[in-house]
Amino acid sequence: MGEHLPFQGMQGLDEISSGFPAEIRPTREEAEAAVRTLLRWACDDPVREGLLDTPGRVTRAYEEFFSGYHVDPVALLERTFEETDGYDEIVLLRDIRLESCCEHHMAPILGRAHVAYLPDKRVVGISKLARVVEAYAKRLQIQEKLTAQIANTIAEVLQPRGTAVIIEAVHHCMTTRGVHKPGTTMVTSRMLGAFRDDPSTRRELLSMINPGIRPHEG
Ligand SMILES: [Zn+2]
Repeated sequence: MGEHLPFQGMQGLDEISSGFPAEIRPTREEAEAAVRTLLRWACDDPVREGLLDTPGRVTRAYEEFFSGYHVDPVALLERTFEETDGYDEIVLLRDIRLESCCEHHMAPILGRAHVAYLPDKRVVGISKLARVVEAYAKRLQIQEKLTAQIANTIAEVLQPRGTAVIIEAVHHCMTTRGVHKPGTTMVTSRMLGAFRDDPSTRRELLSMINPGIRPHEG
């Protein structure tokens, strides 16, 4: 294993950080057999030429879609920098591409996340904020929980004066099936500390994000 890790910071696909017991994880062969079952469920023939390699491709794609189970988000934030010359204003990482998977239909959730914090003496490398988003997004999710997990982890590990996470996303389980409402975006936010308690800080953040003026993705 370890031949292609989807992104830096992963611990390797054999390492499970989410607490899931490794001994009950099925083998790759069992996972591929399950894909063949779903192909037959869709009323197609898993041994016809075009589908022969599909179970292998699907299980490898799953390794990417669900790579977040192998990443420890807390460890990503442990290295911080204190030489900031007293910078104590909002740090905002805006428009982080978000690719997740809905836990009810296993359909894509595509959109963007905005992550902000108000530093208290120390800051973290900005790419680490994007990696925390990815660590939780690359799991089976609902958007509300995803939003809260990202914000709670940043608040607990960095201990900033405030933390804010806003996610805007399109859920393919409602654009391509079910109620079929393309163009519908779901917006969730979690504000902690100063972003929750101080209306002027929250207003400043929202004006920096300026949601709604950029074209939708997904
Ligand atoms: Zn869904």
